[in-house]
Amino acid sequence: MVQKLVVATGNPGKLREMQAYLTDLDCELVLKPADLEVEETGTTFAENACLKASQVAKALGQWAIADDSGLAIDALDGAPGLYSARYGPTEAACIDRVLAELGDSSDRQAAFICVVAIARPDGSIATQAEGICPGEILHAPRGVGGFGYDPIFYLPEHQMSFAEMPADLKHRISHRGLAFDQLLPHLPALWAIAND
Ligand code: IMP
Repeated sequence: MVQKLVVATGNPGKLREMQAYLTDLDCELVLKPADLEVEETGTTFAENACLKASQVAKALGQWAIADDSGLAIDALDGAPGLYSARYGPTEAACIDRVLAELGDSSDRQAAFICVVAIARPDGSIATQAEGICPGEILHAPRGVGGFGYDPIFYLPEHQMSFAEMPADLKHRISHRGLAFDQLLPHLPALWAIAND
């Protein structure tokens, strides 16, 4: 039986990305209705992922999935963190702001973090998982692939920025990929309960 999951986003790109991670499982992802607003008032990625999944599940009476992610830079005390998407008016402006704030700092350590949460139709959280991908912030952007902060996020092990990396490799090693790796083994048992 195909399990239907509502994705707590209005963004079709995010739905496609999640569908790719869930490809081996029998589930069908659908976008949340555009007029259903969700609040992101949490103080951690986990709180926000759970809030989004829970609100959508409860409002629709259906299983829902949500993620929340961002970039945490050590020398900036974890910024841009929860504000990653809103750190500037454009993606380029977000990158410029991060580079300006870091300046010549020799501490370039950073990590992308992603939490994925799945909520039951009553809004309770059935499972959640966190993926953390450590890396370093470059002094200038490199590469043209990906999105967001990818051009300034460098993986020493691969000697490439996320924006220089083939998409399938990024998807495997990224914070989002790691979170889904942890989540996937739990899903068959959840679907069994859901369809009992
Ligand atoms: P959200 O989880 O969709 O709210 O995204 C949070 C923000 O974090 C994005 O808008 C990006 O700025 C940043 N971000 C999250 N994941 C990535 C990634 O894989 N590459 C680059 N930026 C990312």
